[in-house]
Formats: sequence, structure tokens, C-alpha cells
Amino acid sequence: MHDPAANPADPLASYERLLWDLDGTLCRLGVDWPGLKVELRQRLGAPPAARSLAEVLEVARERGRWDEALAWIAVQEVKALDEDPQLLPGSVALLKRHRARSAIVTNNTEPAVQRFFASSGVEPVPFVSRDRAGVSKPDRRYLDLLREHWSGHRTLLIGDTETDAALAAAGGVDFLHVNELRG
Ligand SMILES: [Mg+2]
Repeated sequence: MHDPAANPADPLASYERLLWDLDGTLCRLGVDWPGLKVELRQRLGAPPAARSLAEVLEVARERGRWDEALAWIAVQEVKALDEDPQLLPGSVALLKRHRARSAIVTNNTEPAVQRFFASSGVEPVPFVSRDRAGVSKPDRRYLDLLREHWSGHRTLLIGDTETDAALAAAGGVDFLHVNELRG
């Protein structure tokens, strides 16, 4: 099955399973993430020491407000997608082409993923979102939730951040930066 020479221009050709990040890889969510983080921190009364969104969400978890925080983030993400989904056409075309062996692993929420499917015309594929996972990437549990789709297969994770690379490393799968993709 592994035959790179069959399509040397396609870096995905030799992989049996593809795991895609969402924001920055398949689309660009027009969310003001720094502003969102500040507002969420204020809503929760979280200390400034909570620097990353993942850290702010851990404060939400400690205070029993995880679901509430994720629901609020979902509203912001869906609003941004409704205003302008900013689809990345090269990546979306590859996801459509390789749909049968693809899944999405994203720190965005389930409503955002569903809205991405609707906006892009991509038939839904298996996915894990932060609200489904109950943790944030690069926690390896993300991949455990998709184990049936990648375990034992030659797998590539495609993303745009160090978090994606860290998740790939944690799960023992290969990583490709989205900028290296060729449609
Ligand atoms: Mg991303």
C-alpha cells in the first residue's frame, strides 16, 4: 500500500489515516482569541496568571464552569463562521479527496466543527473537539478518542501550531505543517 512513487507530489499519499486540525488548517476562524481570553477570564474571575486559553479553561473546570465556558466559546466560534468561514480551499479540497481516511482533532467546539461541515460542503468525518474531549490539545487523550481511526495505521496529523506538533509527538504519529501541503 505504501508507494510514494505512485504520487510523489502528494505528501498525503503514503498515509492510511489523516488527522486534521481545524482553525488555521482547514479554515481561519475570525475569532479575536486574545480578546476572548480576556473576557472569559473576567467572566470567571480567573487570575491573570491563567495565560493561555487552556489555562483559563482549567480555572473554569476547577470552579465547575467548564460546560458554561465552552458553550460561550462555541457561540463566538459559530458567529465567526457564520460571518465569514474563511475556508482554506487547498486543505478543504484535500480533506474532501481523502475523506474516507480522515478525522478532525481540534481545540474548537463541536458546534464550530458542525458549522464547518455545513459551510464547506465536506461530508462529516469523525472528530474530537475540546468540549467532547473534556481536555485541550496536546493532551494525548485526543488521539485516544480517535484510536479506532488511527491506531495501527500509518498516520499523519496536519496542523498549523506547535500544539498540533506536540499532539502528534505525544501520540507517536507524523506531523506535517499545513504550509507544506500541496493540493
Ligand atoms: Mg490550528
